[in-house]
Amino acid sequence: MDVLFLTHRDCALHDMGEGHPESPDRLRAIWRALDREEFAALHRDTPGEATREQLERVHPPDYVEAILRIRPPEGEMVPLDGDTLMNAHSARAALLAAGAAVQAVDEVCAGRVRRAFCATRPPGHHAERRRPMGFCLFANAVVAARHAQAAHGVERVAICDFDVHHGNGSQDVVQDDPSILFLSSHQMPLYPGTGAAEETGCGNVVNAPLRPGADGAAFRAAWENTLLPALRAFAPGLVVISAGFDAHARDPLAQLRLTEADFAWVTEALCAAADDGCGGRVVSLLEGGYDLHALAASAAAHVRALLRA
Ligand SMILES: [Zn+2]
Repeated sequence: MDVLFLTHRDCALHDMGEGHPESPDRLRAIWRALDREEFAALHRDTPGEATREQLERVHPPDYVEAILRIRPPEGEMVPLDGDTLMNAHSARAALLAAGAAVQAVDEVCAGRVRRAFCATRPPGHHAERRRPMGFCLFANAVVAARHAQAAHGVERVAICDFDVHHGNGSQDVVQDDPSILFLSSHQMPLYPGTGAAEETGCGNVVNAPLRPGADGAAFRAAWENTLLPALRAFAPGLVVISAGFDAHARDPLAQLRLTEADFAWVTEALCAAADDGCGGRVVSLLEGGYDLHALAASAAAHVRALLRA
């Protein structure tokens, strides 16, 4: 199975300071994990920057401009909220993260590869239309979805988010857009506080909250019984995965108890659903995951499943 792996070393220059969990070491851990013989079949490339036009399909022009104007001198940081900061390199990293999402869509929609995984940062699923939040600046998954629609004529796109936190930003952007389905499993209660099952957008949002302490069986049941049936019924032309690995039992920011095997399982299930409905087209974007060992092992399990499925 042809799988594209996109990453960029400049995404590791975005640094929110000593001790911040969303650290450059996260990418280095994934690079090491995928630098092995079993991943030799991956097509590896580096993304370019997203354009204003691509970002403005998701965020208002004045928001995009305001974020990109924040370029503090080397060694200084600008705080945007309690836990989201920008250094001298953050704007470029954000452009590369969104650009990777766009390039992955281009490659998958052109049929040059069937799946793609983007290991980039900052992540995206907490960024709302007009607000950076929770380590996120641009809503990369929605940038991918809207690019598939605008540039490749894909009618319906599903965003499948298994990060342990609710993707409030992705939901905020798409909740009035019936051409994009947003599916999310996440721990509740937990940051950011949204994601109740009652939040259904315009009928295009399905949230499956999980109790603290829930394990892989509860996670799989949520996907099997609630989220995957909604995905199949929607019959999208492309599946975008918001791949956060912080539902792992070792993660310090949450209390779910998933293992690498659960991430492999959900990846295979999403690929199988994509094979049924949309020619197998899957674009996966890194979101959270803050225990470096668990992150590396989980991302490897995810990519192994993309290669196999
Ligand atoms: Zn998360």
